[in-house]
Amino acid sequence: MTNLEATESSPSNVVAGREPADGECRFCGSTPAVKTTQQGIGSFLIFYRITTWRDQMCRSCAEAVHRDANAKTMTWGWWGLGGIMFWMFLLGNAARMRAARALDHPRRTAGVAAPLNEPMVPGEPWFRRRAALVATCIGGTGWLLLVAIVVAALVLP
Ligand SMILES: [Zn+2]
Repeated sequence: MTNLEATESSPSNVVAGREPADGECRFCGSTPAVKTTQQGIGSFLIFYRITTWRDQMCRSCAEAVHRDANAKTMTWGWWGLGGIMFWMFLLGNAARMRAARALDHPRRTAGVAAPLNEPMVPGEPWFRRRAALVATCIGGTGWLLLVAIVVAALVLP
């Protein structure tokens, strides 16, 4: 004799609710949210890869994505062409954060099933992350040396 109730899978882990709609954060379902784009670049010699995050985001999730994107750029951007493009990504990300930063504190919306239960907690900015700092010191020094060598080669007889 089998106990059917015990063998049936429990539906309690199925999240009920609708998908986040316009004006609701795609990550946590909170409002208010605004369409935000952030980009990071990683590079090696002449190869580079740009990662783009583009979605409706509440203020907290946008800030978290923003800091992660910048940390990625400052960690992985130096080792190739990204070393001459990294500043465009930092400036662009900062400019595109204006709308999200002007939003009110995120509030959960009832009945929305989002991937996260609450807004993301932003990590440290890139300049407080060890990997990004070390990479920036090494990569930045490398680029300065390269520029110095090129300038010296052009100026010296
Ligand atoms: Zn959110």
